[in-house]
Amino acid sequence: MPAKSKLGQNFLNDAQAAERIANAFGDLSNRTVVEIGPGRGAITGALAARAKHVLAVEFDGTLAAALRERFAPERVTVIAQDVLGFDFAAVASKAGERLAVAGNLPYYITSPILLKLAACHAALETAVLMVQREVADRVSAAPGSRDYGLLSVTAQIHGPVERLFTLPPEAFSPPPEVHSTVFRWRFASQFVELGVEKEAFLAFVRHAFAQKRKTLANNLRAAGVAPEAAVTAMERAGLDSRVRAETLPIESLAAVFHLLHAQRAG
Ligand code: SAM
Repeated sequence: MPAKSKLGQNFLNDAQAAERIANAFGDLSNRTVVEIGPGRGAITGALAARAKHVLAVEFDGTLAAALRERFAPERVTVIAQDVLGFDFAAVASKAGERLAVAGNLPYYITSPILLKLAACHAALETAVLMVQREVADRVSAAPGSRDYGLLSVTAQIHGPVERLFTLPPEAFSPPPEVHSTVFRWRFASQFVELGVEKEAFLAFVRHAFAQKRKTLANNLRAAGVAPEAAVTAMERAGLDSRVRAETLPIESLAAVFHLLHAQRAG
């Protein structure tokens, strides 16, 4: 079966890496794992050997049929569908547990998959994902670093992200043009702790990072916040009014958000 590049098919041919991905979850013996894009089953085997059950969600019907031949249905249920339409919440509720999620993600829809997992965070416990190294750099970046931005905040507000290891193109067949990095994402959203309403705060964060070179005040102004209100909120939060969102930890963004809302309410 030739790989279909339009489906992001770069198959892992490093068995040790597959073991490391499965081991990164810790004890899986009582866990249901959803694998995104199992492909030819390189990681599926390692997961099936450890987990209570694996749900393998593969878009390519031919690969899905081959996986059904290879794995016993008691250990692996193969679901031939687009993961973007997969109902994580319903599966978690049926399983009576928060899910583990694994995947060497198809690169062409990496961001939509990460955003979907963020949106389903309440149904998830841990994800161990392989993505293009540059995406892992952004997801795991710390405030003030070159890669810190909207993707970092969107991921990290749903739980801490740790980079685990990086693989060269030769670890895949066919080799992609980029290195790939595995990271672990432990879902523990901070909305309650920060006292922010989820959708309103995420919209604020999108505005805050709308234009990379602009100051936070200017990005907020473009979103309709009065300049004096933005400056007052930032000063009250103990921030320089010329600061850019790219330097601010999530707590400081939440402080500005609160102060703006308090001003509006007052
Ligand atoms: N896990 C396998 C491995 O590591 O060898 C394959 C990884 S390959 C990078 C990505 C896989 O995702 C392919 O098998 C591809 O067919 C599948 N895929 C692509 N788009 C998908 C989608 N929308 N939903 C589910 N699977 C998808």
